[in-house]
Amino acid sequence: MTVARSVRVRGIVQGVGFRPFVYRLAQSHSLAGWVLNGEDGVDIHVEGLEGAIDAFVGELKANPPPASQITGIDAEPCGASGFGEFTIRETRRAGHPSTRISPDLPVCAECLAEMRDPADPRYGYPYINCTNCGPRFTVIESLPYDRCRTTMKAWPMCELCAGEYHDPSNRRFHAEPIACPQCGPRYAPGIHETIELLKAGSLVAIKGLGGYHLACDARNEPAVRLMRERKFRKEKPFAVMAANLEVARTLIEIGAETEALLTSAARPIVLARALAALPGIAPDTQELGVMLPYTPLHHLLFDAGAPDVLVMTSANRSSEPIAYRDDEARLHMAGIADALLVGDRPIARRVDDSVARVGAFGPAVLRRSRGYAPGAVCTIPSERPILAVGPDLKNTVTLVTGGQAFVSQHIGDLEHYDAIQAFEETIADLLAMYEIDAGELTVAHDAHPEYVSTVRGQKLGWVSVGIQHHRAHIASVIAERQAWDRQVIGVSFDGTGYGDDGSIWGGEFFAGSVTAGFERVRHMRPACLPGGDAAARNPVQCAAGFLARDLSAEPFCFPPRYRQAREMMRKQVRTFTTTSVGRLFDAAAALLGFTREITHEGQAAMWLESLARTALDSSTVYPFPELDYEPLLDAVIEDRVKGRDRGEIARAFQRGVARGMCDAVRELCELQATAVVCLSGGVFQNDLLLADIKEMLPELEIWTNHSVPPNDGGISLGQAALAAFPHA
Ligand code: ZN
Ligand code: ZN
Ligand code: FE
Repeated sequence: MTVARSVRVRGIVQGVGFRPFVYRLAQSHSLAGWVLNGEDGVDIHVEGLEGAIDAFVGELKANPPPASQITGIDAEPCGASGFGEFTIRETRRAGHPSTRISPDLPVCAECLAEMRDPADPRYGYPYINCTNCGPRFTVIESLPYDRCRTTMKAWPMCELCAGEYHDPSNRRFHAEPIACPQCGPRYAPGIHETIELLKAGSLVAIKGLGGYHLACDARNEPAVRLMRERKFRKEKPFAVMAANLEVARTLIEIGAETEALLTSAARPIVLARALAALPGIAPDTQELGVMLPYTPLHHLLFDAGAPDVLVMTSANRSSEPIAYRDDEARLHMAGIADALLVGDRPIARRVDDSVARVGAFGPAVLRRSRGYAPGAVCTIPSERPILAVGPDLKNTVTLVTGGQAFVSQHIGDLEHYDAIQAFEETIADLLAMYEIDAGELTVAHDAHPEYVSTVRGQKLGWVSVGIQHHRAHIASVIAERQAWDRQVIGVSFDGTGYGDDGSIWGGEFFAGSVTAGFERVRHMRPACLPGGDAAARNPVQCAAGFLARDLSAEPFCFPPRYRQAREMMRKQVRTFTTTSVGRLFDAAAALLGFTREITHEGQAAMWLESLARTALDSSTVYPFPELDYEPLLDAVIEDRVKGRDRGEIARAFQRGVARGMCDAVRELCELQATAVVCLSGGVFQNDLLLADIKEMLPELEIWTNHSVPPNDGGISLGQAALAAFPHA
């Protein structure tokens, strides 16, 4: 007896070969009906024998296409219409689309094999792709995902491509960016010219998926130095691309989890302990960021003899957003790149490479961008759409619609005109993509009244709400687990964030839940911070603020800036109060010899962590009683004067911070009758600190960020979560 069922599949199910998969599955079970891309997923109607339909649904769940991510399947009985065959129907459009857009995918093994086969029509073709691989987010102009709404719309398919595109049994059936050398876009001038330039030590700007990379031979020290000079990037580590996993193994320590991250579909830059010395690439740190090739072009370059390790950094001047339009790249790269390798296919939006690592608590994303964005991170219950605009540093924005929280790609620091423009473009893009009218939005922004994101955010939307920075950090951890009611102790150790009292926070302990709100229950003893923002760039200013005594003599030898800061303190001009643990790390770094101005955010703390890793003896733990930093820094000074190994001092300092924090947490957990502690904030990017905390708190459940960064890149998600549960 023929029965019928209506099946709805939600998740990342468009643009990943889902419809042809359903088609083939229906055929193999002799079912009739249809499949189409609906507004919030894939809609299927099947008719046939009940047992066959059950088997069909079972396989749908068990073996979906590799690039898909199913979040829900509903199957309901419905009336049979007497279809004679199974067909793929055209896309239907109605209300708000809430379908998830697939992130970009790395080239698959089958396409790679074809690209390397001289007999294949796509031999050596840098734009080869199929339904299992290739660009998605970076070519999609609007939804639903069809070729006419991608940046491939300008290239009509040739006979070969059209044949494959329309053949349900082909791997390229409805592969929207399908192309071949006959009909598709090209790269100019060419692979071989580029390789010769790279080998000769030149800098080449190479168009990639979400923007231009600036590339050079990572083993060529003069080339790397040239890159630093031309990019105005003094010391910030460069990421490199290794030709393959074998080469990567010679560069960094790769365990099973790190390998899984390196070869995951997101193909992020993975930070791990460096094994090889690449001069000038990552000064002052023992870690190196490595990624594997992910586009066909990358493989073509390495196959044809490019240096086996390339610096691949975003093509921009320091701290500007990555260039992604051809004219923009030509303009920005003039005087920086010796040549450009330009591909014809336009990039729909800028998406940087992501950064991740395997830390003490497992894999964690430190910059969430290509390969992850714009995937939903979690569900957040909200009737009304929410737009959370993030903070001003490491900005991302989060849109909540249809209960899904979409976190944008990394936008950057909203300090320059270009970055602010990128911020506005990304918001407009997200709203357009999901057809949200700004007038219906609840906008969540940082509590800092002068942040660019705050000022711009307040102009959008129907209503706006300020969310305190460190509460947002804690909420971002809980959002990943969707434990809205869970009573926790939240610890936010951070650089800078605007506090309830207008002072600079960053060493905060909270008790509560996302639904009930977070009460600040403890904090580091407040210190002075002469010079405000300038102190964040000058560790010696932090040392002057945290310690009343004069440290001009040996072994400290601080530069004049230290005296000026002390003078500011004495006269009480431009002197602020702070509880920031980030600044405490800076003060300690100054005491240990980092006395110059930093050239990138978090540099002094990273330097201190690296120093601490050199310690052979980690038995000493300096005192940090009741979160009072004075005994802690006194111990640093005392041992420094005694001439103790600086690595050991750095380690004892870090262990002191960890011990002090753990003591406070244990007490608070008892007081609040909870065993869950959430850690978030920039300081927790320090993996050695996390490992110490893990060791010191075996009895508690420790939650950290995994899908969004513990740094300010995760703030927008936390803002969105807190805005979804308004408190009195
Ligand atoms: Zn493929
Ligand atoms: Zn073609
Ligand atoms: Fe922060």
